[in-house]
Amino acid sequence: MTTFDVLNPATAATITSVKHSTVAETDAAIDAAAKAFETWRHVAPADRARLLRRFADLVDQHLEELAQIEVANAGHTIGNARWEAGNVRDVLEYYAAAPERNLGKQIPVAGGLDITFNEPLGVVGIIVPWNFPMPIAGWGFAPALAAGNTVVLKPAEITPLSAIRLGELALEAGIPAGVFTVITGSGSEVGWRFVTNEKVAKVCFTGSTRVGKMIMAGAAEQVKRITLELGGKSANIVFADSDLELAAARAPYGVFDNAGQDCCARSRILVERSAYDRFLEMLEPAVKGVKVGDPNLEETEMGPLVSAQQLSVVSSFVPEGAPVAFQGTAPSGPGFWFPPTVLTPASASDRAVVEEIFGPVVVVLPFDDEADAIRIANDTAYGLSGSIWTNNVGKAIRVARGVEAGNLSVNSHSSVRYNTPFGGFKQSGIGRELGPDALLSFSDVKNVFIATE
Ligand code: NAP
Ligand code: MG
Repeated sequence: MTTFDVLNPATAATITSVKHSTVAETDAAIDAAAKAFETWRHVAPADRARLLRRFADLVDQHLEELAQIEVANAGHTIGNARWEAGNVRDVLEYYAAAPERNLGKQIPVAGGLDITFNEPLGVVGIIVPWNFPMPIAGWGFAPALAAGNTVVLKPAEITPLSAIRLGELALEAGIPAGVFTVITGSGSEVGWRFVTNEKVAKVCFTGSTRVGKMIMAGAAEQVKRITLELGGKSANIVFADSDLELAAARAPYGVFDNAGQDCCARSRILVERSAYDRFLEMLEPAVKGVKVGDPNLEETEMGPLVSAQQLSVVSSFVPEGAPVAFQGTAPSGPGFWFPPTVLTPASASDRAVVEEIFGPVVVVLPFDDEADAIRIANDTAYGLSGSIWTNNVGKAIRVARGVEAGNLSVNSHSSVRYNTPFGGFKQSGIGRELGPDALLSFSDVKNVFIATE
């Protein structure tokens, strides 16, 4: 059996090693999920709901344990990690209400009765990245199971521990074996097998746009259903008529949360030219005030990057001579640390302006007016999230409608709520997770006509 060492990113110490599953083992897990589907799909809606609520209760009872796992394995701050475990519970509770409310339609037609059913797809393969291992897993498996599918889930190779524990809790909750299986291994073997195995009806992928394109192309072979949640390069648009002090105080948390390893990171701050200097003056103490350090401490606001590889990727965006306006602090010594960093590049084609960095590095750029702000915000292949800071309601709405992105917030950096839809425009993805409609992306509509004449 081959295994993979799992590290603590705050110390670079090895925590444990995890099994690297083979393609044959992946096929066996998919076969078991296909077999389990035949019974799971027929479990009475109220019973399926009860099992999901029990699963949610067990997640709640193990919230602290799950949070500690994520602090150790992903370097998330304890505050964030508790929120993330709580989010899995909330998403399970939310979709536990769905089996009994998975309503079809009755459509008036001539000569009979016409009704629709939301039929489950079968086996759903969920591929999870390392940046938010628990929430992203839950956004997939909770609605998929609620809609009557069975699930095989592959966590990222470097952050598998919380998913493994969630798989155990599902069994303990009474969800039958084979209904929800966590299988560890590499993306190119286990993950790719979800794409090529014909018994997998849908692949739900969150990760890089590069791999997302491969998944989409591979899925075309079988016209396999997909949901893709990919990268981002989101804009935080600050108008001169906003509460500038508040906008500057909050801006670091819109991009440096989770050490910037957030697909929704507002990694381009666009500031109206008349307020640009004043904003930067106020941003400096806010950035220097971000508490970076031991993720186990309650007061810590930012931990390490997830891996040595991510540290080298992020560092490459801040070479000698980079246009650094100012930087915060980070611990020295072992672990994968990088300080919050603000760049003021002169050119719109600078690599740091164009590419997703996925680390605590933000660029600040000036704009001239409302139209210019929208133009710069949309000058990217991505379209995931964004923020607009202004005290003019009409302008806030016009700009929100003008920005090509799936998740916008006004005078706030909030993107994710379990009860509202989440997903990307353009190359940030296809499909929506969470909210009232996600259930439908785990089913196909069947129309049935019954003649009455
Ligand atoms: P990644 O390399 O695309 O990996 C994501 C997942 O896909 C991992 O589980 C990975 O397995 C697996 N994978 C890799 N190659 C595969 C293949 N050929 N076939 C099937 N699965 C494969 O991305 P990452 O480096 O983990 O995560 C960072 C990126 O994800 C960023 O670009 C970020 O923006 C994006 N992201 C987007 C969202 C969103 O909601 N829009 C959320 C989180 C992250 P391994 O672990 O073995 O590599
Ligand atoms: Mg990768």
